[in-house]
Amino acid sequence: MNVVTRFAPSPTGHLHIGGARTAIFSWLLARHFGGKFYLRIEDTDQERSRQEYTDSILASMNWLGLEHDGEVAYQSQRLGLYSGYVDKLLASGHAYWCDCTPEEVEAMREEARSKGAKPRYNGRCRELGLGPGTGRAVRLKVPRSGAVSFDDLVKGHISVDASELDDMVLRRADGAATYNMAVVVDDAEMGVTHVVRGDDHVNNTPKQILIYRALGLTEPVFGHVPMILGPDRQKLSKRHGAKAVIEYQADGLLPEALLNYLVRLGWSHGDQEIFSRPELVEFFDGTSLNGSAAGFDPEKLLWVNAQHLHKIPAAELALLLVPFLLEAGLKRCEAGRVARCIPLFQTRSSSLKELAEQLMPVLLPAGLLLSQKEAVEKTLPADLREGREHVARLREIFAKVEPFAQEGLHAALQKYVADNGLKFKAVAPPLRVSLLGYMGGPDLAAVMEAIGRPETLHRMEHAATGHFKFKNPVEGK
Ligand code: GLU
Repeated sequence: MNVVTRFAPSPTGHLHIGGARTAIFSWLLARHFGGKFYLRIEDTDQERSRQEYTDSILASMNWLGLEHDGEVAYQSQRLGLYSGYVDKLLASGHAYWCDCTPEEVEAMREEARSKGAKPRYNGRCRELGLGPGTGRAVRLKVPRSGAVSFDDLVKGHISVDASELDDMVLRRADGAATYNMAVVVDDAEMGVTHVVRGDDHVNNTPKQILIYRALGLTEPVFGHVPMILGPDRQKLSKRHGAKAVIEYQADGLLPEALLNYLVRLGWSHGDQEIFSRPELVEFFDGTSLNGSAAGFDPEKLLWVNAQHLHKIPAAELALLLVPFLLEAGLKRCEAGRVARCIPLFQTRSSSLKELAEQLMPVLLPAGLLLSQKEAVEKTLPADLREGREHVARLREIFAKVEPFAQEGLHAALQKYVADNGLKFKAVAPPLRVSLLGYMGGPDLAAVMEAIGRPETLHRMEHAATGHFKFKNPVEGK
């Protein structure tokens, strides 16, 4: 099946999750059928369109891995094309010149309203046979009867009476084509076969179909996806934790996870929740789209992210973590060392940012390790020699463990506890605080193996001799 889709954002803001989801659906549909996916920036509204938003949308698409075919199309560079098509419609008698002023049109609308009818243009210039002239717009001669119907991929059969529709403006008096005209020309010129977009556009579709028909072109298949709502079923907003795609990137979400979450929000494949990108491409064929509005759930998104995060090989994850580690304050980031430490925390975190924060205590050099004052004071108080002594004696023991690996370290620790008739909990907390600076965290032998012998001994020496640097208790967690 020949499938050509497109994503056509207006650069009036960053890419948000609603837009991202339509982009993803369009991209998947094209990739599933081995077709084409185009990107078109609808930047004709000069007042609201901004280059920075175009850049941000492109960056978000790139981050999400929604690569497009061909060059990005900009509507602002195609104005002549739209006008040419309007001229075709004039020549074929499907459109006419209109010299009604905006005030006159408003008066017609008002009159219709006062009669309880739908506010509309009354067709005054339709049969006047006016030619070009300043201040004249061009309108479509909408058939007075008949139905405009289409089978929506999401919403099913939709039918509107042509008589319900206005003789819409195709080209304004200032020469600029209207939105519906431009979209039809672009989609037709690009050979788009499937238009997937938000259902805020569903009312435009019958109008666009009439333009296709007037131009003698076959209309594409349409799919209008419902809005994403907040968990309270209200319009999604910041207060629901909804963010722009670039913000999720900064929060340490994985593009695969956002992709997975957004597709599932409005599409299903049995009861599978976690999908890899290739699986989505394989399973998504434009069917099984949900017609009712989906509720956004930030916690579920984080859960989906965690599922993806836990599967990434450490070496790959180390590279993804670099910006987050630098952001967290690490000055030098050695990929091998990061990769060795990742398994300690990987399944304990839900985002790259969280994982980077958890890794900081093991990646910072001993002298820079910031400890929790409270944990140190509780487990290694200056006036209580015991905890520090355990650390000092264990340090001598660990210095000789060969190889310096989890199993041997664990056995050495057990032996020390048994030989001295101690309880494990008398020894583990001081050791933990000397290695990590806080209570809790992963298995100690695993931590030691990951950070290596020199660093382990260095940290234990620091602890035994009381050289701690403390976190600011206000900032410190
Ligand atoms: N530019 C429109 C928007 O951002 C999309 C139009 C379309 O997909 O047909 O809402």
